[in-house]
Amino acid sequence: MKFSKKQIDRYSRQLILKKIGFVGQKKILKSSVLIIGAGGLGSPIAIYLAALGVGTIGIVDKDYIEISNLSRQIAFTTKDVKKKKSSTIIKKLKKINPDLNFKSFYTNLSKKNINVIAKNFSIIVDGSDNFNTRFLVNDYCFKNKKILISGAISKFDGQVYTFNFHKKYSPCLRCFIPIMPPNPDIDNCEYDGVIGTMGGVVGTIQANEVIKEILKIGNSLCGYILIIDGLKLTFRKVKLNKRSDCCCNEKRK
Ligand SMILES: [Zn+2]
Repeated sequence: MKFSKKQIDRYSRQLILKKIGFVGQKKILKSSVLIIGAGGLGSPIAIYLAALGVGTIGIVDKDYIEISNLSRQIAFTTKDVKKKKSSTIIKKLKKINPDLNFKSFYTNLSKKNINVIAKNFSIIVDGSDNFNTRFLVNDYCFKNKKILISGAISKFDGQVYTFNFHKKYSPCLRCFIPIMPPNPDIDNCEYDGVIGTMGGVVGTIQANEVIKEILKIGNSLCGYILIIDGLKLTFRKVKLNKRSDCCCNEKRK
């Protein structure tokens, strides 16, 4: 693969990074990342991944843009209200970086369609707003050995975790939350509230982790959970072990 003059200009600031360079940028351009949810997390994740040059970006979302989304879903403007999130965000991403491949999936992720939708993507980034989807994505990624970078926000708090199922020691979401919380379909942001900036903080960290996993640079977050308190402004990286009784543990009794 040869870089065009335009590509060299576009990616110049990251090409000069020793840990990226032309070899790394080629890997980024050849990578395929599926983003679950085009909301408060999906917006910054998608915008940064497109800007950085992730070659194929897929977005799954079945919602329409509502005015109450605009306080945190920064990919959208007032004119976008009532439009489909999945196709609208892709129009924005094409404006940022027209050279990439984009795929929008206007649907709710389910047991029936996840295999077909996620098949051609090697990294899945979860920005969904409910536990049913989070567990579905976790189980699919474990079974199919995909890298899962998950994020969650509520009130002034945020969490990020990476599960790299290529690694035997990787825990999964069920190791962290063994019992499905009550009302797994409910969007917590709607009931508990959320400050939009936490979507930016968590989503941007998720996008940064995607690039680190593509390039295999730095310390992977796999095996830890990052807990962010936006009010105290603390970032705690807490060890997350594989549970001996979890379905992801081959040695379980
Ligand atoms: Zn597990």
